[in-house]
Amino acid sequence: MKSYKGGRVFEGYALGKLIVYAALKVEKEAGLGPEKEFERFVKARQETVAALDKLYMATLAKMGEKEAQLFVTHKLMAEDLDFEDTVRMELENNVSAEYAVQAAGEQLAEIFASMDDAYMKERANDVREVAMRIVSFLKKADTSLSLKEPSIIICDDLPSSELMKLDKNMILGIVFAKGGSNSHVSILTRMLEIPALCSVEGIEVTPELNGEFAILDAMKSELIIAPDGKMVTAYSKKKKEYEDNKLKLQAFKGKETVTKDGKKTMIYSNIASSFEVENALRNDSEGIGLFRSEFIYLDSSDYPSEDEQFEHYKRVVEAMGEKQTIIRTLDIGADKKIDYFDLPDEENPALGFRSIRICRERPQIFLTQLTALYRASHYGNLAVMIPMIISHSEIKFVHEMAAMARENLKARGLPFNEKMKIGIMVETPAAAIMSDVFAREVDFFSIGTNDLSQYTLAIDRVNPNLGSSFNSHHRAILRLIKLSTENAHKAGIPIGICGELARDEELLPFFLKIGVDELSVSPAYTLSLREQISKIDTTNVDVNKFVG
Ligand code: PEP
Ligand code: MG
Repeated sequence: MKSYKGGRVFEGYALGKLIVYAALKVEKEAGLGPEKEFERFVKARQETVAALDKLYMATLAKMGEKEAQLFVTHKLMAEDLDFEDTVRMELENNVSAEYAVQAAGEQLAEIFASMDDAYMKERANDVREVAMRIVSFLKKADTSLSLKEPSIIICDDLPSSELMKLDKNMILGIVFAKGGSNSHVSILTRMLEIPALCSVEGIEVTPELNGEFAILDAMKSELIIAPDGKMVTAYSKKKKEYEDNKLKLQAFKGKETVTKDGKKTMIYSNIASSFEVENALRNDSEGIGLFRSEFIYLDSSDYPSEDEQFEHYKRVVEAMGEKQTIIRTLDIGADKKIDYFDLPDEENPALGFRSIRICRERPQIFLTQLTALYRASHYGNLAVMIPMIISHSEIKFVHEMAAMARENLKARGLPFNEKMKIGIMVETPAAAIMSDVFAREVDFFSIGTNDLSQYTLAIDRVNPNLGSSFNSHHRAILRLIKLSTENAHKAGIPIGICGELARDEELLPFFLKIGVDELSVSPAYTLSLREQISKIDTTNVDVNKFVG
């Protein structure tokens, strides 16, 4: 048995045989001369275009116009004159059409990849995909996957067209060993609700994996290859329970989040990429409570530009419409390091140079982000929150920078919401203790219980050896939560919880009794949390039991 950790594309469980998908790779080889090879290219391109037309029709029927449009884009790429010219140029070196197409695809993909705009960057994979499709016609090699039984697909990455050609009922799960969670194929996978992982550490996708039995645990983001019988039995049970429960929970869609005694609260979603907003909406989330914007920086090889960030923020805000979207500003440092930030090595990184501290030292980075956020505020109900706040001077700095961002946009004549709400995370004991003062300086609070617990207990949240001492129900933490909630409400501002404790079943009655306005959790937990809340009667809850 071997197990591997990855990132999650879509939740769920899968048990079954692996089937390997490997992309074509052409070695440099001599051709029949530029003219003959060009004719071969033209013919293969015609076949590609015809195949793309068919895929367009099939996707239109399965998923609708928006998703089918991808194949119109692919067709335009295949017929693009710049692409054709690049193939011609490559053929001048007397190489085969296969090699010329692959090289031309790679050259154009690199141009897309170097663009600032997130949408254009993503097109790099599309160009590669189109080129490989033409190559497969040239080679007359059918590289496409054919699933004879329901299987778990494992690949470095998968062209979206491959996914759309398959019968969804035959796909138990997908492992994109090298793919990211924002790629097109990942987005389609989420839309199809297929359990899937990406960026899996330490796995080599080789043909030997074909036919191996595996368990895909997309709840814990783990792939287990060749599990023992006991594990298979346990996971079959888990999968069944998960699926039965999912079905049952559908009854809570479209309902308010309300306790037995009529106390209302809101369930928001935590997301790490703009594409996850679809997940939040599908699970009937009432807002976005935490968009961890640092993942835009982590996914990038250089500082993301204002335009690039704007596209991500706008996508979420527009999709959420009137529902609130809270985007957290850059929270790096500690366990989230980014090479191009060139952060110093530190003895105690969790207590070191991170989040707002970095933004203060490098204000241009922060200003770019705030400007992108204000621009996105024009498109829906956006609020911004700042992590790791400990002092009044930090809040003052944030307001000054926000004013600069507004001035900048005014000068450029761009529309934005002057009144966009600015809140802070309460995730340090300092912020909780000072919450009476801070509540008068910001528009809302959101409690980050992961860090609040770590800093209150002085226990490193990522040190596995200290796990048993990490009592997240410690009264010190709960008292700080209560204090912050009371102070928020005294000042007339709302307060939410966006750390992992937000879905802690034992603490839910406490949170509801003290009047937490919003709980923000992974989209997959929305409906189960709503169900749990519907069973709670807060009239019988004794707050002292938690904090006394
Ligand atoms: C937290 O600290 O509780 C939180 C939500 O932020 P993160 O886990 O990203 O530090
Ligand atoms: Mg935190």
